[in-house]
Amino acid sequence: MDTTSQTRSDAMTAGEFRLVAKPDETVHLVCCRDASWQVALCGTECTEINPAAEVVCTMCVEEVTALRPQWRSEAQFVCPVDATRCPDEHEVDLRIARETDRTRSGR
Ligand SMILES: [Zn+2]
Ligand SMILES: [Zn+2]
Repeated sequence: MDTTSQTRSDAMTAGEFRLVAKPDETVHLVCCRDASWQVALCGTECTEINPAAEVVCTMCVEEVTALRPQWRSEAQFVCPVDATRCPDEHEVDLRIARETDRTRSGR
C-alpha cells in the first residue's frame, strides 16, 4: 500500500465546494466535464454550487454564445467547450455530490 500518495491527493480532490440553495443568486456556468469547476466560463472563481439559482450570469452566457453561436436553436444542449452532448442529469448530480462531499461516503 502506498500511503504517501494517499495523503497528498487528499488536499485538492473532492469536497472543494459548498452546496447552497440561493434562488436569488446568479449562477455561473462551467463545463460539466471540466477537470476543475473552480473557475467559471467568465473567469469568476466559484466556491459554491447552487442548483437552485434562477439567474444565469450574462457574462457566462456571452462566453457560451461566443464558443457556440447556434446553441439557442439546438434541440439538445451541446456543451460549448468540448462540443459534445452533456452527460445526463444523473451523472451531473453524481459529480455535484462528489464535489461537495468532504467525507466521501462512497455514494
Ligand atoms: Zn459568470
Ligand atoms: Zn461540458
